[in-house]
Amino acid sequence: MIYLDYQATTQLAPEAREAMLRWLGDDSFGNPHSPHRMGRAAAAAVDVARQQVAALLPPGGRVVFTGSATEALNLALYDSGDVLTFATEHPAVLDCERHARRHGFRFEVLPVSADGRANAAALAGQRPPQVVAAMQVNNEIGTINPIPAIAAAAHDLGAVMLCDAVQGYGRIAIPDCVDLVAISAHKIHGPKGIGALWIRDGVKLFPLIRGGGQEGALRSGTLSPALCAGFGAAAAVAAQRIDEDAAHVAMLWDAARDVLSRWTLNGSAEHRWKGNLNLRLAGLNVNRLISECRGVMFAGGSACASGSGRPSHVLSALGLDPAEAKTSIRLGFGRYTSREDLLSACRQIDAAAREQGV
Ligand code: PLP
Repeated sequence: MIYLDYQATTQLAPEAREAMLRWLGDDSFGNPHSPHRMGRAAAAAVDVARQQVAALLPPGGRVVFTGSATEALNLALYDSGDVLTFATEHPAVLDCERHARRHGFRFEVLPVSADGRANAAALAGQRPPQVVAAMQVNNEIGTINPIPAIAAAAHDLGAVMLCDAVQGYGRIAIPDCVDLVAISAHKIHGPKGIGALWIRDGVKLFPLIRGGGQEGALRSGTLSPALCAGFGAAAAVAAQRIDEDAAHVAMLWDAARDVLSRWTLNGSAEHRWKGNLNLRLAGLNVNRLISECRGVMFAGGSACASGSGRPSHVLSALGLDPAEAKTSIRLGFGRYTSREDLLSACRQIDAAAREQGV
């Protein structure tokens, strides 16, 4: 098995597993919100994790743990007022439209350029919204948005800047100029089932989940110390290895591009995270390719869109027609991918495509 689906999820780092196991024992199951010794020990572990996660985020804000980045994005956009966003955003943002509209808010989706990047100029002259939402690194094609320019334009409109940094956090720096940041543990070799929203001091939000008042009453529900500790450990490793991981990924990118040189790259070649290689080949039958390369775990389009039969909304936003969009594959790789495995997978994929006569 060669795993090339890093944008969908990543394997647990050994350090994260170790940190989690400590909070799954017979004597360490305390509720972090309980006042007794076991509870306080669990709360201390959550605190450490919160600091580890915050170390990769701007100063002047706080980390609220959530069940996923989807929840973090929903929390950021819940009754937030008018929203301006971009066509290549994740469904966790775009699908908030119906709720926003039902509550009488404007929810406008702006186009992106042909290289897949959101453009700050698209915000100029817009009726001021309360929130501008733009992702840092696109999950389908790996393109990096000009977040500082978009945040500056958002602030000129008097709006709060929400950044979906799920694919960038732990890999590239999060710009200081944003006001809300959504992240997810399982994309950085942490556990599934935990995400976070970073909130700049002074930004006011409404709770999506009400109850016991945890997380400053913004996100009620008992926290899992094991999940928090796994997230924290994964963030700490990412912080330590950020340059090493990026260099490894750049090396992998060159190797894969060499083998797949006849394939066309989707999205900007220059402004991108190189652990995401989204390619198309005219006439390719992607479903057949995936079933023929059974030992290689890779995606056609995004994991969220796959199976729906609909062409990817991201590739469509780039101006690809539905037929072109459906001939695209996504190879995602990173820290634990070896050059040999990647080369072997790329050769298998290219050979299987040739077998199809494309
Ligand atoms: N935003 C982006 C860019 C993503 O890639 C994902 C996950 O695929 C999400 C949001 C949602 O993250 P989660 O799986 O934590 O809900």
